[in-house]
Amino acid sequence: MIAAADINITKVERSKLSDINLTNLPFGKYFTDHMLEAEYENGEWKSVEIKPYQPLLLDPSVAALHYGQAIFEGIKAYKNPQGEAFIFRPYDNFKRFNISAERMQMPAVPEDIFMNGLRALIELDRNWIPNEEDHSLYIRPFMFSSDEMIGVRPSEKYKFLIILSPTGPYYNTPMRIYVEEKYVRAVSGGIGYAKAAGNYGAAMYATATAKKLGYDQVLWTDAFEHKYVQECGTMNVFFIIGNKAITPDLSSGTILAGVTRDSVMTVLKEMGLTVEERPLSILEAIDAYKSGELKEVFGTGTAATISLIKELKYKEFSMEFNPERCEVATEVKTRMNQIRYGIVPDSHGWMCKV
Ligand SMILES: *Cc1c(COP(=O)(O)O)cnc(C)c1O
Repeated sequence: MIAAADINITKVERSKLSDINLTNLPFGKYFTDHMLEAEYENGEWKSVEIKPYQPLLLDPSVAALHYGQAIFEGIKAYKNPQGEAFIFRPYDNFKRFNISAERMQMPAVPEDIFMNGLRALIELDRNWIPNEEDHSLYIRPFMFSSDEMIGVRPSEKYKFLIILSPTGPYYNTPMRIYVEEKYVRAVSGGIGYAKAAGNYGAAMYATATAKKLGYDQVLWTDAFEHKYVQECGTMNVFFIIGNKAITPDLSSGTILAGVTRDSVMTVLKEMGLTVEERPLSILEAIDAYKSGELKEVFGTGTAATISLIKELKYKEFSMEFNPERCEVATEVKTRMNQIRYGIVPDSHGWMCKV
């Protein structure tokens, strides 16, 4: 077992923080002073280190670059008005990380390394957590196969790393969405439920094609009929129909089980809505739109929290939503922010003190 005390820490001589203004930083571009790196070899994890943020030196034959055993997570840390640092639901990300690892035939990362490592790293770089509204510290744990050998087989060596990126408000204007009917993101039996790197590379062509047509993102549909909605880009999706909030269920294994999705379902219930996790066909959504019952559609994820959708285009039919009237989404976002920035008490046990 690796306790925090077993993590070998080498600190930077001089922090880069004095060179950077932590206000309105773009997403994922700046990184803190330190990173965590752990190595797996011969069936065990060893050498967990926190050291100055630096490039990796890799052999060109390193397996992940060729065969894509690579997974990641996205978590955020916040400061409350008293300046105390909290991480939002990191255990849920830890569990999901190991679900992704299993699907990709990679070793599990033990809780001690993931959680103690995360805590120790954030403790060290806590001054990098921005104080401002809508700002946070984005946490990126990831793992990849590191065998130096170009045979197709599961690797024997892996690297697990955590890097931290201070970030400002996410670029978050209401989106125009193209309902995708040709390309697919995930199919039952595939890796849609894993946060595996290949899922994102595989999605880029369809997204770029939709962008050429003037849309911001695609709404993925099922691989067989192109009718049942899955996710919106890299976000889970909610449809507000009457007093119901409907989001696709996870049973087909094609949807990433978002921590934000789960939190938003809880908040929606607290707001008095009925939450349904079930298959939702785009035709049902269109019927509800025509009858005036479908009022809002929005995406959820750690990076943006809630993203409003102002248009959903399916074949020749376009559903339009006035962002100013998206009251449910706006209220959910407000409530989520109040919890995460410590403005209201955390009654769910979501905030994990650093
Ligand atoms: C990360 C991700 C989400 C959102 O998950 P959160 O835990 O809420 O950040 C949704 N869909 C996909 C495909 C994702 O990669």
